[in-house]
Amino acid sequence: SDFGLTVSARTVVVTSGTFLRGLLHIGENSKPGGRMADASSSLSASLLRLGFEVGRFKTGTPCRLNARSIDFSRCEIQLGDEPPPTFAFLHCESETLGKNEIFTLNLFRDGKFHVEQLPCWITHTTGKTHEIIRANLHRSPLYAGLIKGTGPRYCPSIEDKVVKFSDKTSHQLFLEPEGRHTSEYYVNGVSTSLPYEVQLEFLHSIPALERAEIMRPGYAVEYDYFPPTQLLPTLETRLIGGLYFAGQVNGTSGYEEAAAQGLVAGANAALKVQGRSPFILERKEAYIGVLIDDLVTKGTEEPYRMFTSRAEDRLFLRHDNADQRLTNRAFGVGLVSQARWTSVQEKMELLNQIRLTAVETKVRGIPIAQLLKRPDFSVMDLPHEILSSASPSVWELVETDFKYEGYAARQSEQNRQLERRGQQIIPDGLDYNKIAGLRSETRQKLSALRPTSLGQAARISGITPADIAIISIWLMKNNLHNLLPYLKS
Ligand SMILES: Cc1cc2nc3c(=O)[nH]c(=O)nc-3n(C[C@H](O)[C@H](O)[C@H](O)COP(=O)(O)OP(=O)(O)OC[C@H]3O[C@@H](n4cnc5c(N)ncnc54)[C@H](O)[C@@H]3O)c2cc1C
Repeated sequence: SDFGLTVSARTVVVTSGTFLRGLLHIGENSKPGGRMADASSSLSASLLRLGFEVGRFKTGTPCRLNARSIDFSRCEIQLGDEPPPTFAFLHCESETLGKNEIFTLNLFRDGKFHVEQLPCWITHTTGKTHEIIRANLHRSPLYAGLIKGTGPRYCPSIEDKVVKFSDKTSHQLFLEPEGRHTSEYYVNGVSTSLPYEVQLEFLHSIPALERAEIMRPGYAVEYDYFPPTQLLPTLETRLIGGLYFAGQVNGTSGYEEAAAQGLVAGANAALKVQGRSPFILERKEAYIGVLIDDLVTKGTEEPYRMFTSRAEDRLFLRHDNADQRLTNRAFGVGLVSQARWTSVQEKMELLNQIRLTAVETKVRGIPIAQLLKRPDFSVMDLPHEILSSASPSVWELVETDFKYEGYAARQSEQNRQLERRGQQIIPDGLDYNKIAGLRSETRQKLSALRPTSLGQAARISGITPADIAIISIWLMKNNLHNLLPYLKS
């Protein structure tokens, strides 16, 4: 350490985020730092010496504005969901978590979750905004060639949006309160590294922001990451046993992506010390499984973010059934308490009972299970004496299961077929622009790399199972699906 101390441990998890040789950019100025006002770290230099491969990515953030300087009367209001959805499955958790937290706005009372919601506000950039940005592109480190790292495709800077989508005369912006106890507003949509005075000038050309005061300017940060193909599915490095990497250092970007990896790396580091079997989630079980499998098998050439389209079984991997899918797995490695496990077992028994009721009970001569498949029928349409046999939330889960059942079965069948079609030839010179519904990322990557089979295309980083399904269907419709060396039965 900096103090000359040596700390020994049998397992270590590195989660140093954007801090590794972090370089902050605002306009022509750049200085080392992990985040604004935080020092950068030289840890990656030591890891490089140990033989790790190191890459360079970048990300950015918009400016924060003073609420008192925003004219909200000129914005469109954007309210939160009603009723607000909860993160916690167990009500008692919401109750106890909230009790000692002075800043929490959430509480569980009278059998209901309450949250004091603050609205967001919508405004738009103008032609004038784009003019100012275009006139100052040479002062943006990205366009002046100062930044070398690759940025997140789906969180482009406002400079990027103005250049790449030059036909658009306006971009939507969300003004988001940073909390009830601060007057800072986050301007979602104008991530930028232009100089401070240019940021102020272009903001003043936006309705509602004519008199905006910047509390913290936007900036870009470049940082080192470790290409994640150097990892095992436990997130332990292949090079050094007992050393784990998690979070942004593995080339991901995003809070949930980082938290998911921290959980898996932490659990595995502890299991290793205890001499127990590793904890690995499969792609079928959880988005965590998809994320880690994508990272360690395909790697990533740009900051990786999670999308539902990356998962083959996306109709099954839902937040409403996360406790049913994962509590048992988590209990097996000691990540959840006996009390939580018991409560989920009870819930699953109740769900099974209600499913049976839905199959066996008829309303107006039709089994409830059939009625629930109809898009225009909801559990709220059930007679009170049936509905009152369980809480509305349990009925809603059963309804979702029945409504999606057919689609989920079709998706499984499609996945099975696609697995078999891995050998299917993609005709040489195929023009991906002809295939409707493909994302531009997919078109770009496939046109550049020209995979020869569907299986090869599926292994390219950033190409999702949804993309492969679209291409397969297109080949079939155009009678090009018989170009097979052989088909596995
Ligand atoms: C400017 C900016 C804006 C972002 N906006 C969003 C957003 O809106 N939504 C979203 O989902 N994601 C956003 N992200 C991405 C998200 O913040 C990160 O992906 C996520 O926080 C990464 O988590 P992490 O735990 O890997 O690292 P971090 O959250 O960066 O944490 C790293 C920690 O390691 C510590 N550290 C570093 N080096 C050392 C060392 N040598 N010794 C001891 N401690 C060390 C640091 O102090 C820090 O606390 C943003 C990132 C940035 C930089």
